[in-house]
Amino acid sequence: MADALALLHDRDDAKVLAGGQSLVPLLNFRLARPGLLIDLNGVTGLDDISEVADPGAPELSFGALVRLADAERSPLVSRRSPLLISALRQVGHRTIRNRGTIGGSLAHADPAAELPLVLMTTGGRVRVRSLAGERWIGAPQLFVSYLTTDLRSDEILVEARFPVATGPGWAFEEVSRRAGDFALAAACVTLTLVDGAVSECAIGVAGGGPVPIRATTAEAGLVGQRAGETAFAAAAAQAADACEVEADIHASAEYRRGLIVTLVARALAAATARATG
Ligand SMILES: Cc1cc2nc3c(=O)[nH]c(=O)nc-3n(C[C@H](O)[C@H](O)[C@H](O)COP(=O)(O)OP(=O)(O)OC[C@H]3O[C@@H](n4cnc5c(N)ncnc54)[C@H](O)[C@@H]3O)c2cc1C
Repeated sequence: MADALALLHDRDDAKVLAGGQSLVPLLNFRLARPGLLIDLNGVTGLDDISEVADPGAPELSFGALVRLADAERSPLVSRRSPLLISALRQVGHRTIRNRGTIGGSLAHADPAAELPLVLMTTGGRVRVRSLAGERWIGAPQLFVSYLTTDLRSDEILVEARFPVATGPGWAFEEVSRRAGDFALAAACVTLTLVDGAVSECAIGVAGGGPVPIRATTAEAGLVGQRAGETAFAAAAAQAADACEVEADIHASAEYRRGLIVTLVARALAAATARATG
C-alpha cells in the first residue's frame, strides 16, 4: 500500500487497476491512456468482509479489493443485507463479478451501476487513503458526476461501509436490455411500516442522471401515507421528477422517465410485500 500510494503521489499520469472490468475496456478503446498502471491486486489487507458497529449503527465493511462474487457468496452479507445481495446479482455477468471489486465499482461511478445506488440509498460511505492520511466520504459527496468521484488523483479507496438495513422492507429493481447489461434504470428502496402506514423510507434511483440520486421529496411525501398503489404512484412520479433524465443511444428521455416511474412503484410494492411477510 505504501508503494502504491507513493507512486500515485509522484506520478500525475498513473491509474490504479483493481478488477480491470471497467479500466481494461477503457484501455482497449484508448479512452484511457495512463502512463503508469498501479496494480492493487498485490496489496494485502483489502479483501476482508466484516460487520462493524460504528458509531452505534451496524454497518457491513468491505475492503476495496473484495470481489463482487465473494460479497455475493458471503453468508454474513446474505444474513445482514439481502438488499446488497439482490443488487450484486444484477451486476454484469458472473465472470465480471469474479474479477470486479467493490472498490472499483464505487470508484468507477457509472451512473447506472448497482453498488453506487445502494450506497447512496442506504447512506453508506467510503474510506480513502493518500500519503497525507485518510478521510471518510459519504455517498452524496462521493458521486460528483458521470464517472467522476470526489477522490483526488493521489487517493486510493480502501474500504466501503454499507449500513445494515434496519427493517424487513427492501427491494432492488432494474431493467436492462439484455441480461448482464448495465441497467437502463434502477430503483432501490428500503421502508418500514407501522400499522400499514409508511413510517420510514429511502428511495434511490440510478440511470436518471449523471449520479445516483435520493428522491428525498418523494420519501417525505410517502411517510405517514397508507402503503398502497395510490401513494406509490405519486411517490414514483415525484422520484422521476427529481431526476435529470437524458436521452442516449440506449433509450429516449421519455422512455427512461417512464421506466423510472414503473421501477420505483414496483420497488415500493415489493418492499411492502417483504415488510408484511
Ligand atoms: C460487459 C460488462 C458488463 C458490466 N455490467 C455492469 C453492471 O451491470 N453493473 C455494474 O455496476 N458494473 C458493470 N460492469 C463493470 C464492473 O462491475 C466493474 O468491475 C466495475 O465497474 C469496476 O470494478 P473493477 O474492480 O473491475 O475496477 P477497474 O476496472 O480495475 O477500475 C475501474 C476504475 O476505478 C479505479 N479504481 C479501481 N479500484 C480503485 C480503488 N480501490 N481506489 C481508487 N480507484 C480505484 C480505476 O483506476 C479505474 O479508474 C460491467 C463490465 C463489463 C465488462
